[in-house]
Amino acid sequence: MSDKRTILIQLDTDALPSVFDRVVAVDAGAQDVFSYGSVTPENVQPLVHGAIFTRGPKDLKHTAIFVGGSDVAAGEKLLTAVRNHLLPQYGLQVSVMLDSNGANTTAAAAVRTAAKHMDLAGAAALVLGGTGPVGQRVALLLAKQGADVRVASRQVEKATAVCERIRAQAGGANVEPVGTAGDGLRQALQGRNLLISAGALGAALVPENEAKALQGLKVIIDLNAVPPAGVAGVEPTDKAVEHYEATSYGALAVGGVKMRIHKAAVAALFSANDRVFDAESIYQLAAGLP
Ligand code: NAP
Repeated sequence: MSDKRTILIQLDTDALPSVFDRVVAVDAGAQDVFSYGSVTPENVQPLVHGAIFTRGPKDLKHTAIFVGGSDVAAGEKLLTAVRNHLLPQYGLQVSVMLDSNGANTTAAAAVRTAAKHMDLAGAAALVLGGTGPVGQRVALLLAKQGADVRVASRQVEKATAVCERIRAQAGGANVEPVGTAGDGLRQALQGRNLLISAGALGAALVPENEAKALQGLKVIIDLNAVPPAGVAGVEPTDKAVEHYEATSYGALAVGGVKMRIHKAAVAALFSANDRVFDAESIYQLAAGLP
């Protein structure tokens, strides 16, 4: 039994490391949290070396790295750089988690919530706001579970680019870009049984005057917590409430699931020194939670 304290090294791409991520780390059981801001692929090497050269390989599972910040693309690049500076051939590595902007844990929570009510392999999904960091991950996770996924944007070209990226990550992914301009939203909703709305804060993606197109849905999830609702009528606190004959969840209900997943992932970092938690592995972890 090691007497080493658990240390989470928080590498944030923003100047001010996220207080949210730090609080969750403590609540997840990290005994010490070392927080660094303005971390880039160029300046991260000494931080990673500080993590891996201090404790022997058998104790390195008590040290882990969390990559965060508001910029998801910057976080992904930083994660790659962190991993490149680990030395697994000598056992000198630590577990790493990426959750910039909360995107990975939020997407996992949304997809996990939907999976409670339907078989995702048979789902016909529409992801509104599918070009944002959360929406892109929701679409990827759904496609990986075998769902037929429409990725929506106000500009179909943006959705097309997202679908191409998803196909590159998940061969055989059944994804289709759709534009929501004009009567695009109504067409995009046709034949869908799962709607996940991942639009920007306070953006009404299905406003009141479009809500009559919400037919035949089994599950609706709205991730926007700030009024007006992303999907008219769905309240942030709704948890398995029926709207438009569909089981519906609002952002705060999904946020509770997100918090559980986030804490479980941070805790799991300290179970071994070689774990990597990104969107997919966080979802796998989430799928195993009670
Ligand atoms: P985002 O990047 O701010 O926006 C997502 C997409 O919404 C954009 O790519 C854009 O797509 C569309 N959009 C932007 N402004 C719009 C407008 N005025 N009208 C219609 N569509 C608009 O969002 P995100 O960071 O991915 O987050 C998605 C949602 O999840 C947000 O509501 C966020 O608050 C929530 N969230 C919750 C948690 C949590 O812990 N509960 C954590 C993270 C995020 P197009 O330009 O392609 O149309």
